[in-house]
Amino acid sequence: MSTVTQLSYEEAVAAFEPVIGLETHVELGTNTKMFCGCPTAFGAEPNTQVCPVCLGLPGALPVANRAAIEATIRIGLALNCSIAPWGRFARKNYFYPDMPKNFQISQYDEPLCVDGYLDVEIDGETVRIGIERVHLEEDTGKTLHVGGATGRIHGATESLVDYNRAGIPLVEIVTKPVPGTGARAPEIARAYVTELRDVIRTLDVSDVRMEQGSMRCDVNTSLNRPGAEWGTRTETKNVNSLRSVERAVRSEIIRQAGVLTDGGKIIQETRHFHEETGDTRSGRSKETATDYRYFPEPDLVPLAPAAEWIAELKAALPELPRVRRARLQSEWGFTDLDMQSVVNAGAVELISATVEAGATAASARKWWLGELARRANETETELDALGVTPAAVAELQGLVDAGKINDKLARVVLEGVIAGEGTPAEVVAARGLEVVSDEGALTKAVDDAIAANPDVAAKVRDGKVAAAGALVGAVMKATGGKADAKTVRELIIARLS
Ligand SMILES: [Zn+2]
Repeated sequence: MSTVTQLSYEEAVAAFEPVIGLETHVELGTNTKMFCGCPTAFGAEPNTQVCPVCLGLPGALPVANRAAIEATIRIGLALNCSIAPWGRFARKNYFYPDMPKNFQISQYDEPLCVDGYLDVEIDGETVRIGIERVHLEEDTGKTLHVGGATGRIHGATESLVDYNRAGIPLVEIVTKPVPGTGARAPEIARAYVTELRDVIRTLDVSDVRMEQGSMRCDVNTSLNRPGAEWGTRTETKNVNSLRSVERAVRSEIIRQAGVLTDGGKIIQETRHFHEETGDTRSGRSKETATDYRYFPEPDLVPLAPAAEWIAELKAALPELPRVRRARLQSEWGFTDLDMQSVVNAGAVELISATVEAGATAASARKWWLGELARRANETETELDALGVTPAAVAELQGLVDAGKINDKLARVVLEGVIAGEGTPAEVVAARGLEVVSDEGALTKAVDDAIAANPDVAAKVRDGKVAAAGALVGAVMKATGGKADAKTVRELIIARLS
């Protein structure tokens, strides 16, 4: 079956209204697993971090990890949720070889945190994303299909299972459906995941690295005609980068709009996002909750976090990213537009660190969003991976402010820093880039320039001061750009008046 109609994105969102929803899994950075004392360190030899509990051996009993519960409550509080005073874990029953117990301990109708929200900013406008629930569960192991060319099960000669990951605490954060986003649905989905990642990073409960799988995102998308009921949604699984979140929503909107335009029906199913092609492909038809035969976990006591404990955790929350950005904007004296460009460039922390290293906010912004952003763009590198530290940028600006180098030389110095030649001061010394401000040396160059350009000099003598520019240029050329232009100009005017 293939779709005949292929709409553009603009046509799709003109004819249909998208409703999105996001389910995000975050692996907590606790020292031990959710229900046993096994370590959680990444990258150990397969099946070396296991015990009877996380291997699901008969008779083994789970004990809940207090640190994981605390981390989940803090995430819930940061997302403005209510914390349930009482609740139970539940068994989610299904068979999968990487899940040794044949059920996952999760939370079902009694999640730990409910009914919150996260505000995200898009082009200076605040969009509030409702949070339906935040609950705690355990991760599964990992299956490795070997012997085939692709690493997939097809063509593999054997499958190996590593249970080191089985039982690592996993928090699932589920949004309420988000209607009314229109054409901005993909952008808003990305902005939400970005903000959520920053919040969780600020709480220091996970390293939230999407590329390593410690943060994984499922994206729900449905379309409806304006004014009609919401459509059937699909769930795109394991979207593993911020950029892919945006692309997955966009491509699913285009696909569904094509199907619906042809009079087809959207099937409730799981789909997989393909990084190479940027589209989604059909996976399995989506299970409903009844397929999992949930029931309260009989081996664990109910969770009943004390109100005082929750109040303590709430009082101890760190300054959250949105509040921090507002404070920094006011401290830095940036306009909304200035700040927006800093946020979009992902440069908030870099500028903050540069200011801490002694630069003014304006000069820090000038370097990171100007010359450095240009170089990052050219080499398709992230700003923080350029090899230039905030301290180096502050030092560079310090050299400019002290008159040791000018802006043009500063860019050459930056080149040296990026090439690994040392700190800005070291590059200036090694490459001999310091400006010539010694008046004796400059006077000689000025005299030479006047002698070589008698007609220009005559104009300046007649009061046409603007003509001095040509002489300044000649001196700069003679000194290889290392003269201080302001001093040169003063010397020329003094000589010719
Ligand atoms: Zn264990």
